[in-house]
Amino acid sequence: MHDDRNLVEARLKRVLEERIRPAVHPESVPLDVAVWHAPGEPVPVAEGLAATPEPIAPGAAWGAPWGTSWFTVTATVPAEWAGRTVEALLDLGFDANMPGFQSEGLVYRPDGSPVKGLNPLNQWVRVGSPVEGGERVRLHVEAASNPVILGVPPFQPTQLGDKETAGTAPLYRLGRMDLAVFDETVWQLVMDLEVLGELMAELPADGTRRWELLRAVERALDAVDLQDVNGTAAAARAELTGVLSSPAVPSAHRISAVGHAHIDSAWLWPLRETVRKVARTASNMTALLEDEPDFVFAMSQAQQWAWIKEHRPEVWARVVKAVATGRFVPAGGMWVESDTNMPGSEAMARQFVHGKRFFIDEFGIDNEEAWLPDTFGFAAGLPQIIRAAGSKRLLTQKISWSQTNTFPHHTFLWEGLDGTRIFTHFPPVDTYNCSMSGRELAHAERNFKDKGAARHSLAPTGWGDGGGGTTREMVAKAARVRDLEGSPAVTWETPADFFAKAEAEYPNPPVWVGELYLELHRATLTSQAKTKQGNRRSESLLREAELWAATAAVRTGAPYPYEQLDRLWKTVLLHQFHDILPGSSIAWVHREARRTYERVAEELNGIIDAAQRALAGDGDRTVVFNGAPHTRHGVPGGGARAVSGVRWTEARDRDGGGFVLENDLLRVEIDARGLVVSAYDLTAGRETVPPGQAANLLQLHPDFPNKWDAWDVDEFYRNTVTDLTEADEVSLDGGGVRVRRSFGSSTVTQVLTLDGGRLDILTEVDWHETEKFLKLAFPLDVRADRYASESQYGHTFRATHTNTSWEAAKFEACNHRFVHVEEPGWGVALVTDSTYGHDVTRTVGDSGTTTTLRVSLLRAPRFPDPETDQGAHRFRHALVPGATIGDAVREGYFVNLPERPVTGAGAAEVEPLIMVDDDAVVVTAVKLADDGSGDVIVRFHESRGGRARATLTPGFPVAEVVATDLLERPTGEGTLSVSLRPFELVTLRLKRA
Ligand SMILES: [Zn+2]
Repeated sequence: MHDDRNLVEARLKRVLEERIRPAVHPESVPLDVAVWHAPGEPVPVAEGLAATPEPIAPGAAWGAPWGTSWFTVTATVPAEWAGRTVEALLDLGFDANMPGFQSEGLVYRPDGSPVKGLNPLNQWVRVGSPVEGGERVRLHVEAASNPVILGVPPFQPTQLGDKETAGTAPLYRLGRMDLAVFDETVWQLVMDLEVLGELMAELPADGTRRWELLRAVERALDAVDLQDVNGTAAAARAELTGVLSSPAVPSAHRISAVGHAHIDSAWLWPLRETVRKVARTASNMTALLEDEPDFVFAMSQAQQWAWIKEHRPEVWARVVKAVATGRFVPAGGMWVESDTNMPGSEAMARQFVHGKRFFIDEFGIDNEEAWLPDTFGFAAGLPQIIRAAGSKRLLTQKISWSQTNTFPHHTFLWEGLDGTRIFTHFPPVDTYNCSMSGRELAHAERNFKDKGAARHSLAPTGWGDGGGGTTREMVAKAARVRDLEGSPAVTWETPADFFAKAEAEYPNPPVWVGELYLELHRATLTSQAKTKQGNRRSESLLREAELWAATAAVRTGAPYPYEQLDRLWKTVLLHQFHDILPGSSIAWVHREARRTYERVAEELNGIIDAAQRALAGDGDRTVVFNGAPHTRHGVPGGGARAVSGVRWTEARDRDGGGFVLENDLLRVEIDARGLVVSAYDLTAGRETVPPGQAANLLQLHPDFPNKWDAWDVDEFYRNTVTDLTEADEVSLDGGGVRVRRSFGSSTVTQVLTLDGGRLDILTEVDWHETEKFLKLAFPLDVRADRYASESQYGHTFRATHTNTSWEAAKFEACNHRFVHVEEPGWGVALVTDSTYGHDVTRTVGDSGTTTTLRVSLLRAPRFPDPETDQGAHRFRHALVPGATIGDAVREGYFVNLPERPVTGAGAAEVEPLIMVDDDAVVVTAVKLADDGSGDVIVRFHESRGGRARATLTPGFPVAEVVATDLLERPTGEGTLSVSLRPFELVTLRLKRA
């Protein structure tokens, strides 16, 4: 037989596109359209419905950036359409090349009840099936003219990312606004042909099945009368029944499709727009669930559910009803899909506490799957936190974005830093926006690394971020590949049902130990410094607010601000969303975040002040409160004393220029360039800075990544570097040394002081660079193969060398409060109050191997925020020569939680609510129980990676000790004499006597 395969395939493409698809809506009449443009921010639904609209015609421009326009569409259904299915086709001017990220609408009935969303690939609204003919149709559309920020070409700087700079020129032209007959048979034929055509393209060209599909498609096309598609579609479908009913082979890959819409809680739109995006998508999905009995939809991020409940009660009622059917499923059990590298220990825990609690309180659903498809890497502390929250599984696909190495598993056990193992799945479909195309399904099967041992994978299916979620077309395609020869077999399932099957079929999956490092988006540890600082500061203040409010409640009976703390925690957790804390959102989002963090700080300081005043009593002596877990200057952690230790530092001129700072622990030499040329540990008798080198060195690199400006730093940035060694001023400033430099359009002022064994460095930068990366370097006379970075409830080791591509790819990594390097017996810590990015390299010179640790201060990408990080910044770092990991942990807390002097009664001594007799055991939270019982909750962990035995001594009468999970639910009997595994995390509930 002659090979005519290409000819038939090309015929299918053209006939489908130009003849069959247009016949889905064979007859139409135009709708009358009128519009009212809301003058500013979005208005309540009632106001939008009540406004007086002006007529507008298709083709007319509408929609200032970030505006809201209320369209009213009306028509009379033609009498001759009686008995047929009729839909409104509402094209707001969509660019169908992008499923989301642009204009969107929510359709309402005249009574204000929502119908469904309007999205680029979801423009229909069912009017009646069947219609009577002659009835009036009236619908309202709340349309958002959100600008396209990430367009073609991508990553171009734009002023559209903030309403304050976006201007008012209309962005859209109204498209087709019609009432149309829907021909179900033609639509089904389109689905048949798309599924078979896409499957065909994935099959081997020399395989029998491919040719059987080709011949069936050819017969179907022959059966279509191109002048009467509607009259011949049924006959064409009949030609396809045979190939569509041939079952999947027994070894076919099994895909659990989970309806999904990945909605970034803020990104290329502000938070307020996400509230509406979620409402539109939830309206779509509740409507689709009613139409499609097999369909299952999962929605993550309790915050998004809470927004619907608060802002769109009608949509919420539909969601509640759908959840009761078991097919609209809360996923993930987190407050938002947060970043997991940067959130601190307690914040990471509270993501699960607040997320899970919302779903338990609202629906009685306690889900066990962490759902983080899009998060930029996963810290090694996460498995223990997931388990401590009562969950046990994780889903993400983001590691498939890694630029260098291919992850070896799709289903595996992920072992965290304490040894906790979590059953983990990476969907091999490599997307969280699966559209059920043949290409995606075939890719999932081919790509699946665990073939032979396992057969199940998950496919999050639906358009996210304003795409409206799963479409009826995706559901129709899934139905056809449920059991189809040549295709993976697809079933709609909940995440829990998928995981149950995956676990059952794979009892001994491979194990991956340590962090899941994303080899991409490394600059998200640095971009938008103020957002990061706001997060770190808020986390510290939340710790203090809970600690002092609980202490005041127990000691003085002061009321505990339950609701205020709950609200402030949720605000901070929201801002840990994986495009806010990482700094990858538009200017508007970060502008608002800065203001929000200021308000959060103000409120938390208010709580702290009130509690400390209550505890300190009346008087005129200074009482010093220590919010850190360890004793400082004689003040116990979590307590207060009327005295504070005396510190001294001698500052003197240095031979050869510059100054020397010295106390009983440390002697630091700062040369005439303002660089630290010596930091001598007087206790150990050891120098920190390698001979001939200098620490506290600011280094400036060009930084223009190939893509994803705010997200990425590409390794070639290191090829070019300018050392900022010229100083405008080096002078004594009180007990410290002040250094001022200028470079480019920017200036830096640093103040170096000693505090015990710490060299504190306060760096103030007035930053006006573009596409540059500013690092602060500390060459250390330490030979280290690996170094430690603090993570949640512990620390992670990474190599200082680049032996393999896996190690080389970690050229920028995350720390919390410290980074630590050591040789046996002596180490150095670098401590920070707000920065997260760092790099560590090794150098071999005349004096042996040394280690250079650099913290990342500032970047200046121009997309998506063209003004990223411009202006004044303030960072606090400290170098701690001679530090063990334990010292690094302690100094990290000290730098992040400064002492608070309060004027109070002379005799005031506040005893801590809890004392621990082993410094390795660190208390991370002291608070009153969220249930309002007045019980005290204490959370602590082993912080050094070793074994610890400790006795906890409560500073109040305790009736009973109960061990709990993170949600403060009992897990067993508790004890105050604990024996902890490395990094083990424990939560105790202390019932007061
Ligand atoms: Zn995302």
